[in-house]
Amino acid sequence: MEYRRLGTTGLKLSALSYGAWVTFGRQVGRSAARELIALAYDHGINFFDNAETYNAGDAERLMGDVIADLRLPRDAYCVSSKVYFGAVTDPKPTQRGLSRKHVFDAAHQALERLRVDYLDLYFCHRPDPDTPVAETVMAMDLLVRQGKVLYWGTSEWPAELIEEAHRVARENHFIAPSMEQPQYNLLHRDRVEKDYAPLYRAHGMGTTIWSPLASGLLTGKYNDGVPDDSRLGHPDYAWLRDALLENDGAALKTVRKLAPIADGLGIPLARMALAWCLKNPHVSTVILGASKPRQLEENLKALDAVPLLTDDVMATIDAAL
Ligand code: NDP
Repeated sequence: MEYRRLGTTGLKLSALSYGAWVTFGRQVGRSAARELIALAYDHGINFFDNAETYNAGDAERLMGDVIADLRLPRDAYCVSSKVYFGAVTDPKPTQRGLSRKHVFDAAHQALERLRVDYLDLYFCHRPDPDTPVAETVMAMDLLVRQGKVLYWGTSEWPAELIEEAHRVARENHFIAPSMEQPQYNLLHRDRVEKDYAPLYRAHGMGTTIWSPLASGLLTGKYNDGVPDDSRLGHPDYAWLRDALLENDGAALKTVRKLAPIADGLGIPLARMALAWCLKNPHVSTVILGASKPRQLEENLKALDAVPLLTDDVMATIDAAL
């Protein structure tokens, strides 16, 4: 495993990490979750990503249960939570958003579900138009000073709002955000590569990137239809299937153009897609999602494929995109 600093912080995260969205508490039960976390940890993964909203808190409960059962040393792994969407299906006004109240309540609930005394990383899962940025920054600052959160950050915030959070932190001597959690993959690159470019320099921002395989699209598994036992075949995720396969399957056409490049390198497309994410020096960690151990085993090989992505290969990929 390779370890990378989270931006300019001193925290070293494994370049490949593992997240619980969709899978934990829905596709994956306790024994499979235990096997997946153990496999990840044994391969050097030290960051496990979660959120209050993943399966209404069940993903955090399951992860906390399994990590406790495996007796992973608390100082050898990092765990995250994210606040915004709420952890109940029909949240009351105080049970979602980024108000000081919900940021506090959600942090305490995540600590309980994950069975830890502090969150290593805590993200504002989306911007909240109903809460002043200063209120959220102050709430995060307090949680860090109380020792309940170590590093706080944002997820899918526009660059200008992240700048505002830094300005508020600077002017008030609050602790500033350290990282952002954006989507980044071969099909979705502008925010990480263009919008955030000034933030890496100005604020030493780290990134923990999500959906590196575009929910599996970049494995090629959806090229000939939607398998029943796949994420996009799950009835609760019809919205995701429609979003990913919109515009007459334009994304799939791109996936088909990329496949011969991976063939030429002698590796599966998924491995090339993950290696491509790892190649970006602004990516602190690539959060893998895997519903089965064999997927995780395959995806862990991506680090070895990074050297295959020479300048020429990167140019060929750019041309295909
Ligand atoms: P991916 O894009 O890697 O998609 C993961 C899914 O793709 C798997 O669950 C599996 O689905 C399929 N897959 C993965 N590897 C393979 C393989 N080798 N062969 C075939 N199929 C494969 O990642 P996620 O979308 O899961 O995102 C990763 C993590 O990022 C999440 O778990 C979560 O922690 C975080 N995240 C954060 C968000 C945010 O807003 N901050 C939003 C979304 C995710 P299946 O077996 O079901 O077909």
